[in-house]
Amino acid sequence: MRIVQKFGGTSVGSIERIQNVAKRVKGWADNGYEVVVVVSAMSGETNRLTELIKKIDPNANRREQDVVLSSGEQVSMALLSIALQAIGIEAVSFSGWQAGISTDKVHSKARILDINSSRIDAVLKQKKIAVVAGFQGITNEQNISTLGRGGSDTSAVALSIALKADECQIYTDVDGVYSTDPRIVPEARRLNTILFEEMLEMASLGAKVLQIRSVELACKYEVPLRVLSSLTPIDENPSLEKLEGTLIIPENKKQTMTKTMEDPKIAGIAFNRDEAQIKVMGVPDRPGVAYKILSAISEQNIEVDMIVQNTSANKLTDFTYTVNRGDYARALEITEGLLSQIEATGVIGNNKMVKVSLVGVGMRSHAGIASKMFEALAQQGINILIISTSEIKISVGIDEQDLEKAVNILHQKFELEKQPA
Ligand code: ASP
Ligand code: MG
Repeated sequence: MRIVQKFGGTSVGSIERIQNVAKRVKGWADNGYEVVVVVSAMSGETNRLTELIKKIDPNANRREQDVVLSSGEQVSMALLSIALQAIGIEAVSFSGWQAGISTDKVHSKARILDINSSRIDAVLKQKKIAVVAGFQGITNEQNISTLGRGGSDTSAVALSIALKADECQIYTDVDGVYSTDPRIVPEARRLNTILFEEMLEMASLGAKVLQIRSVELACKYEVPLRVLSSLTPIDENPSLEKLEGTLIIPENKKQTMTKTMEDPKIAGIAFNRDEAQIKVMGVPDRPGVAYKILSAISEQNIEVDMIVQNTSANKLTDFTYTVNRGDYARALEITEGLLSQIEATGVIGNNKMVKVSLVGVGMRSHAGIASKMFEALAQQGINILIISTSEIKISVGIDEQDLEKAVNILHQKFELEKQPA
């Protein structure tokens, strides 16, 4: 069996933690697993390096920025290798280029194009552990590149694909993916499994356990991906069968890969505090208006999330859209500037909105989930500002002061604290 284990910044945040990671990895090696370890920079290190660059020039040359930023992972990989050797495990560290990770030329957010894993394969054949720096690769011009913040997750998944690993394990400071944020709902439950489609929604809606790109990649190649804690007691006799955490799996493998016949309608509740709403009123109901507003917004590189247009009464309609709060002021200004051109009567903005979403593939086959959701919110006197739906999620925009109440009541209503039968 071959596994890729990724340890994030917190997990390698001190010498003691690095030594703990080494002990954890040793258990797997002793039990006959072939192990490739991917590491992040020690916690806070990438931020520290970013600050150093900014002190000289916030717009510094991107090639050079990547050289600075990639150094954090290089320190971690060798320290872990040394820690493994210190407890009698043979290990070899690899930077991105040494590991054969080729990327495109987009410095600071490069994409992995290909991995030539021959050097790692050779090390595994010699029964040694390969320790690889996450977050980095090399361009076809032999320049060091980095993959964007949180990119080590993507390195780990890409290596799992190239090495045909049986599982990709992402060790972090939480012990899995929860039905919702336990800081808001103490009864939130750790999910044993979640489907890729659901995880992508949970992640994009603000449940930031994994870099979204890594989930997309794992989904595309159907690599089983597990999120688990590096802070739990170390099992000296580990195996894939015993492992906890949350396993993210493809829908078509669900029957064979889950021990229970787990089939909840709703996987979880995600929320995003970072929303703002802009409502254009009294818009004449004629072709081209939505286009005029949205094209002006997207020309400024502002991303629009939800869009709603009412059916018109008296040939006038309201047109509402939402953006990230950081873009709110600019979006409002742009829209106000368009008022006379589109002959609308006014604009109202609300930057105190949050988005709460129910996520679950079970929605496809179960009717009535939306009405149950709206009923629960109504019973608590929570006003819905905007609604949007997709095949596997229902999102509502509500006032930010209602967030905790809404998430709690929905968690209760859909009994997400219960283990599915
Ligand atoms: N060290 C990088 C960051 O902090 C990459 C990673 O940790 O995944 O974003
Ligand atoms: Mg991370």
